[in-house]
This record gives sequence, structure tokens and C-alpha cells, in this order.
Amino acid sequence: MMKIRVWGCRGSLPAPGPENNYYGGNTSCVEVTDGETCLILDAGSGIQRLGRFIDPKIKEIHILLTHLHIDHTMGMGFFLPLYNPSVKVHFWGPSSSVTPLLLRLRRYFSPPFFPVRLADLPNHPEIHELAFNDFSIGEFQIHSEYVCHPGPTLGFRVRLGKKTFAYIPDHEVRLGSTHFPTNPEWTSGFELANKVDLLFHDGGYTVPEYEQKLGWGHSAVEDTLDFATLCQVKHLAIFHHEPNNTDAQLESIFADSMKGKDLGFEVELCREGAEYFL
Ligand SMILES: [Zn+2]
Ligand SMILES: [Zn+2]
Repeated sequence: MMKIRVWGCRGSLPAPGPENNYYGGNTSCVEVTDGETCLILDAGSGIQRLGRFIDPKIKEIHILLTHLHIDHTMGMGFFLPLYNPSVKVHFWGPSSSVTPLLLRLRRYFSPPFFPVRLADLPNHPEIHELAFNDFSIGEFQIHSEYVCHPGPTLGFRVRLGKKTFAYIPDHEVRLGSTHFPTNPEWTSGFELANKVDLLFHDGGYTVPEYEQKLGWGHSAVEDTLDFATLCQVKHLAIFHHEPNNTDAQLESIFADSMKGKDLGFEVELCREGAEYFL
């Protein structure tokens, strides 16, 4: 069984505070396990807490980064297993035609951003570059591909047995297809999310907000609902909540976007601490 736990689903910047307690303030971090293999999707601020609660029996950890924006990487240096000599950590992330992933990770692990260098860690993490790939980690079969977002950015489709989970936290789904939402083969991310059991997908804006932020890399809630419909997903959890929106504002945007819609799948706002079992 695939167990998915959300350690952070806020977008762009951590947003702690009592008005945000229900959906949580930590940025992107999702743990996926089958009891043997530990995958961590993104290393936002949520990974710090995950590092304190991770099963101590796990000696090999795979961190899969969708991209290098700070909200998806800011927690890396605070992940305690990196400092445990008996744990091997792998970083998987998007390749770029400009700079190798190792050098891009070294920028984070260096002054003035961070005092500890990658080479100072007791176990040097193993680095794996990804683009359009199919690969396995333990029993998990994973497909990665680029999606519409500034800079090289991946989405992941994770399969265990017959169950599938797609993770596309940062995605401007409307860009790239003039006929969205009707042309699946021209829609960014379609192959990742096609008929999955569960999709976590970017969706923080109202339509008027999106129109003010064209090209910023994110999606309106309504576009996310259309994308999930196009992909015939079974369950959607909307991810990457705007840091300026309180719990009440998130719910009101969601309710407005759902008005008059008769969707054939379950949908909710993703929440820090939520668990899904596939
Ligand atoms: Zn982000
Ligand atoms: Zn981003």
C-alpha cells in the first residue's frame, strides 16, 4: 500500500499563523512510503519536521525535487537525516542545459545562504538528474517529465502495483495549449496525471487573479478543476496555497470555483498533516 503524508502544501513562502492553522504554513513536502522505501517529494520548509519524525529504521532516503525554487528547497539543510552518518540520502531533480544539478544544489549549501557545504556532510548525498524518465526506486515506478513553470520544472507520476499518484505542485496549466481544456495531447502535464487515483496539483488563484499573473507559473483553481476533469483523475487535492490567503479565504475561493460544477471525482484543498492511502 502506498501511504502519502503531507508535511507542507503552502506555496511560495512559509505562512505560519493562527489564521492558517488548518491548511498549514509549511511549504511543499510530501512523504510517500510503502513501509520499506521512503520517497520525499520536495524539500520545502515541511521537511524539517518530517526529519524529526521519520522512521529511524530507514537508512536510505530519496528526495525528489520538482524544481529548485526556494519554497521547494529551503528545508534541505534542516533535514536531520543528512547529518546522520548511517543514512544515505539521494537527491533527484531536474536537469538543466545550463548548470548541473550538483552545482545548483551547491549554491544552496554555501555561504551566504547556508553555513554547511555539501562536502561537509558525513555522507555525501548521491545526485541523480532527471528529465523525461521512467525509473524505479524500490517497488515504486516513477515517471518524470517537464511541465509549464519558469525554469526546468518536473512533475512526478508514482506507481505502486496498480495505484498511481501524480504530484504537480507548480504548474501553469493554461499556458502552452491554446485550446485548453480540450486538447489532452497538447496539455502540459497530461501524461503525468492521466487517470491517476490521486492528483496533487497547483491551484491558488481566482480567475481574475490569474489574469493579473499570467506567466508566473501557477494556476487558477478553476483551471485545475478543468485539468483534473480532462485527465479523468479519481481524486484531486489542490496544492500550493497562496501565502497571503487565510484558511477562510482559501475555502471561499474554493467554494466560488466549485459553484455550478458537477465533477465526477472527489476534490478538496490539500492540508498539512493529511494522509492518503492507495
Ligand atoms: Zn512553489
Ligand atoms: Zn516554483
